[in-house]
Amino acid sequence: MDFDNIHESNSRVEEVAEEFVLGRLAPDHRLTYEKHLLTCPTCESAVERVLEFVKLLRKANESELSE
Ligand SMILES: [Zn+2]
Repeated sequence: MDFDNIHESNSRVEEVAEEFVLGRLAPDHRLTYEKHLLTCPTCESAVERVLEFVKLLRKANESELSE
């Protein structure tokens, strides 16, 4: 995966953020992306959005399970 063109489109930024949060990036890509996150507020906020979304999903699943 090449992170130089990650900002080619908004959907690409979201897609990579999602893969990162879900642990789907290969380890070396993960490292590259983590370094990129330190310098890129755009991707950082994309990751934060995905994290919030995943939290909501987990909450929804938990309340389903407890019923
Ligand atoms: Zn970025």
